[in-house]
Amino acid sequence: MEKTIKTIGLIGGMSWESTVPYYQIINETISKELGGFHSAKIILYSVDFAEIEHYQSEDNWVDAGNTLGCAARVLQQAGADFIVLCTNTMHKVARQMCNYLSIPLLHIADVTANELNYHHIKKVGLLGTKYTMTQDFYKKKLAKAGVETIVPDAIDIEIVNDVIFNELCKGVVSPAAKQKFLRIIERLQAAGAEGIVLGCTEIGMLIQQKDVKLPVFDTTRIHAERAAMKALGM
Ligand code: GLU
Repeated sequence: MEKTIKTIGLIGGMSWESTVPYYQIINETISKELGGFHSAKIILYSVDFAEIEHYQSEDNWVDAGNTLGCAARVLQQAGADFIVLCTNTMHKVARQMCNYLSIPLLHIADVTANELNYHHIKKVGLLGTKYTMTQDFYKKKLAKAGVETIVPDAIDIEIVNDVIFNELCKGVVSPAAKQKFLRIIERLQAAGAEGIVLGCTEIGMLIQQKDVKLPVFDTTRIHAERAAMKALGM
């Protein structure tokens, strides 16, 4: 009998550069699991990132949450079985988005926390936007799973945030940025990190496991693989 695959509602475009690997990894995972011509059932709602970035920089999370909540509802009405929001930062408004939904949202920090638990990591260095690194919404989820989070110092937070918005979100992957990130990762290791969470869906474009001695947890890959498995009911 044919296996029924659930339909994934992807909210992407934040930035679109990082939505591309989501599409690829989800399809690769389904193909690996089921073989043959199988591929993922996906409905993509790709937003205009300028609008979302404007709300972020104005500290207007209410309108950001309503915009993404409406996008999620469109996906639900179109037949999505669950929602995958392709950005770490905007999970700040995940709860608000759920007010628009009767289907589940697969939270990126929950699946990352599960992966850290699976690898017995108790203390991680978190790289992400300044919102993700300095605010509580993400770190709280990890703490609830028994994982302590350390973040770079104020100067390094600015460096990481600047590379994310001014390079990676625009598709620029520079050797200079890579060197900066590797130095920051070394400092996190010296501060006791047992692993590094790439807590921004673009960082995987710049840093991969082969570049770093510590275990690296790429949230794009973890989230996308988990979404594919959920679609398969696994
Ligand atoms: N994709 C990013 C993240 O994972 C940053 C872009 C955004 O602010 O949504 O946090």
